Amino acid sequence: DRHPEPQVAPDPSKKTLVVLGTGWGSVSLLKRLDTENYNVIVISPRNYFLFTPLLPSCTTGTIEHRSIMEPIRTILRQKRASVKYYEAEASSIDPDRKVIHLVDTSDIKGTITETEVPYDMLVIGVGAENATFGIEGVREHSCFLKEIGDAQLIRKKIMDCVETAAFKDQSQEDIDRLLHMVVVGGGPTGVEFAGELQDFFDEDIKKLIPEISDRFRVTLVEALPNVLPSFSKQLIEFTESTFKEEKIDIKTKTTVKRVTDKTIEAEITRPDGKKEKIVLPYGLLVWATGNAVRPVVKDLMGRIPAQKDSRRGLAVNEYLVVQGTRDIWAVGDCAVAGYAPTAQVAAQEGNFLARLFNNMAKTETLEEDIRELSGSLNVKPGNSAEISRRIEETERQLRRIKDVKPFNYSHQGSLAYIGSEKAVADVSWFNGNFATGGSLTFLFWRSAYLSMCFSSRNRLLVINDWFKSKLFGRDVSRE
Ligand code: FAD
Ligand code: NAD
Repeated sequence: DRHPEPQVAPDPSKKTLVVLGTGWGSVSLLKRLDTENYNVIVISPRNYFLFTPLLPSCTTGTIEHRSIMEPIRTILRQKRASVKYYEAEASSIDPDRKVIHLVDTSDIKGTITETEVPYDMLVIGVGAENATFGIEGVREHSCFLKEIGDAQLIRKKIMDCVETAAFKDQSQEDIDRLLHMVVVGGGPTGVEFAGELQDFFDEDIKKLIPEISDRFRVTLVEALPNVLPSFSKQLIEFTESTFKEEKIDIKTKTTVKRVTDKTIEAEITRPDGKKEKIVLPYGLLVWATGNAVRPVVKDLMGRIPAQKDSRRGLAVNEYLVVQGTRDIWAVGDCAVAGYAPTAQVAAQEGNFLARLFNNMAKTETLEEDIRELSGSLNVKPGNSAEISRRIEETERQLRRIKDVKPFNYSHQGSLAYIGSEKAVADVSWFNGNFATGGSLTFLFWRSAYLSMCFSSRNRLLVINDWFKSKLFGRDVSRE
C-alpha cells in the first residue's frame, strides 16, 4: 500500500541511532536493522542508494542512470518501525555533546537551512571524496566518476566533444583534441570507464558519425608500472592486451602533474629511468585516482586524540567502533579497518553492525527479563522452580547472543569490465583463487552484478537497458 504511515513520535525509552549516508555501508545496515529497537534517523544529501558497480555503464547510456538508483524513502518504508530521513549533509560531529550539525545543501531552501540532531549512537557511512592530490587544474577541468551527476555530465560531454569535432569546417587540430578522451588513474574505475567508452565508440558513434571515426582515441594514464594493481599478474596482462586490441592507449609510469582546460601535463619515466615531460591535448578528461577523506570525517578525526595517527579515515576497532569513542561506529570508505575501500567491504560491515545492534537490543531486553523474573522469585515463592527454570533459559539465551564475534571480512573476489564484452575476475572459490578473463567472465560479471542489484525493480530496469542498447544502439542525444 502506498499511503503514508502515521508519523510515529520518537519513543523516549529507546536510544536514538543516527546513520550518516545512504551508500553501501549505511543502506546494508538499514536493510537488516530491527528498527523497532531504536529511534532511527538517517541523514544524507543523497535521497537514494546508488549501485556504483554499474555507474561506468551510465556514462555512455548502456544503462540509464535511474535504473541503478533506489529511493531511500522506498527502502525505509519497508521497515517495521518508522525511520526519519533528513536530506542534508552532516557538516560536523561533536562527540562530547553527542550532536551532529547538519546543513541543507540542496538548491531549494526553507527558512531553516541548518540545525543539530542529538544522538545516543552514531554510525558514520559518508564514504570518501575524489582524490586530486592538490594537482593544479584537476577540480576545474576534469570530470570525476563517483556519483550519478558525474556520469550524466560525462555522457553529455562525450557527445558535445563528438558533435563539436563534427562541426562544419572544424580545425584539424581541434578535431584531434576533441576526440581525444583521456582517463587518469588505472584502477578499476578508470579501466571500466575506458572500456565502456571504447565500446560506445566502436558500437555506436563510429556508425552514426563515420566521418570522424579514424580520429577518436582513448588514452589511459597510470602512474604505476601497470593498471589494475589489485588484480593478479595474469589478469593485468590480459587487460593490457585486450586494451591493445581495442586500441586503447595505456600510458603507464606516467604521472599527471598539471591540468589546463585543453591539455594535461605529465611526467613519464622511460625504460632507462629518464623522466620526460609530455603534454596531451584532450577533449574529455576523466579523473579516477581514488579516494580522499571527506571534510566532516577529517574534522571529527581532529577532535579525537586517538585518531591523530590515522591518515586515510576513521581508525576503527574489530567491532567497527571508532577508536577513541564509545558510541560512534564507522563503515565503508570512511573507515580504516584494514580492507580495500570497496562496496563488498562496506556492505559486509553494514550487515555486521545491523547484527550487532539487533543483538545489543535483544541483550538489553533479556537482561530486563532476568531482572523481572528474579524480582518475582521473592513475590511468588510457590512458583520458584518454574521461575528459576525460565531465568536459566533466559541466561543461556543471553550468553549465546552476547557472544558476538568481531567483524571478519570474507572476500568473494574482484570483478571488472574491460570492454568489448570481456571482463576479468579474481574469485575465491572453495578456499582457492580463480583468475579468469574473457567473454564467459563477462557473462559471469553481468549475472553477478544483476544478482547484487538492490531491488527487483533495479534488476528489471538494468536487463531492459542491456537489451535496449544492444538492440537499438545507445541513445546519443545530448540532454
Ligand atoms: P558510498 O556508497 O559512497 O556512500 C556514501 C554516502 O554518504 C552517500 O549517500 C553520500 O551522499 C553520503 N554523504 C556524503 N557526505 C555526507 C555528509 N557530509 N553527511 C551525510 N552523508 C554524506 N566496489 C566494489 O566492491 N565492486 C565494484 O564493482 C565497484 N565498482 C565501483 C565503480 C565506481 C565507478 C565507483 C566510484 C566505485 C566502485 N566501487 C566498487 C567502490 C564502492 O562504490 C565503494 O567502496 C562504496 O560505495 C563505499 O560505500 P560507502 O557506504 O562507504 O560510501
Ligand atoms: P584506485 O585507488 O584503485 O586507483 C587509482 C589509480 O590512480 C592508482 O592506480 C594510482 O596509481 C593512479 N594515480 C594516482 N595519481 C595519479 C596521477 N597523478 N597520475 C596518474 N595516475 C595516478 O581508484 P579507483 O579505481 O577509483 O577505485 C577506488 C576503490 O573502488 C578501489 O578500492 C577499487 O577496488 C574500488 N572499485 C572497484 C571496482 C570493481 O571491483 N570493479 C570498480 C571501481 C572501483
